[in-house]
Amino acid sequence: MRLNSKVALITGAGSGIGKETALLFAKEGAKVIVVDINAAMGKETVTEILANNGSARFVQVDVTNEESVKKLAKEIEGNEQTVDILFNNAGISGVGQLHEVELETWKKVIDVNVTGVFLVSKVIVPFMVEQKSGSIINMSSCIAEIGLGNRASYAASKGAILSLTKSMQVDYAPFNIRVNALMPGTIYTPFVEDYLSREPNREAAIAKIKERQLSGDLGKPIDVAYAALYLASDESKFMLGTPFMIDGGVVNG
Ligand code: NAD
Repeated sequence: MRLNSKVALITGAGSGIGKETALLFAKEGAKVIVVDINAAMGKETVTEILANNGSARFVQVDVTNEESVKKLAKEIEGNEQTVDILFNNAGISGVGQLHEVELETWKKVIDVNVTGVFLVSKVIVPFMVEQKSGSIINMSSCIAEIGLGNRASYAASKGAILSLTKSMQVDYAPFNIRVNALMPGTIYTPFVEDYLSREPNREAAIAKIKERQLSGDLGKPIDVAYAALYLASDESKFMLGTPFMIDGGVVNG
């Protein structure tokens, strides 16, 4: 197994990409710490892992709340005592052109998508520094590179993650910690369904997404989970500070 006995912490593991990655990491032998703000969904992920003879436990955390994140670190000190793999995956969407976005919405998107990565990494990096090894995967998006439009706050948040990833990589490479970023295209999850459900013409919106992708279809959470598995495992040991695109061949449009 590719992650035998590694401790893997995944934020936003109650749904979509995070959940699929938690299931895959567990299948590959990892002890998964399932983190989510939504207790019912996070516990469901753990139930599915245990039903498949995997190892997992749930910790309810709001990644934007420093107290909540510090409590998580304390919990880990008393349990696993380390983290080998951190997948900073929790995120929310932000639709709208810049002039339409309310300041409150802007702050919320930056808070979850950027400050959440900062806060969780801040408490987990010391475990990795101590053991002189670790793999951190930060969730960006292909939107950080392409001009998709109508996503001002979201695009800004995911662009920030690329810069943060490179900065973290330089700082922690001396401790044998790798920090890479994932840049998925459109992956069919509740996150995308939420956006589609607000579109006046759902079918037309799906057709437009498909048109933009050379693959001709939306991605699935497992497509990203496999990429996360590669970045988490030692197979990617020569990848440091890399933005890893997994987007079905998205073209500007
Ligand atoms: P999702 O909505 O299915 O899952 C997101 C999870 O994050 C949920 O379980 C939610 O409860 C959790 N979460 C939200 N706020 C939180 C908080 N404050 N603290 C802890 N947990 C919180 O979304 P998804 O599509 O699986 O997206 C996962 C990540 O992938 C996000 O960062 C998203 O921006 C990114 N992404 C998604 C796509 C896509 O097309 N689905 C594309 C590129 C990037």
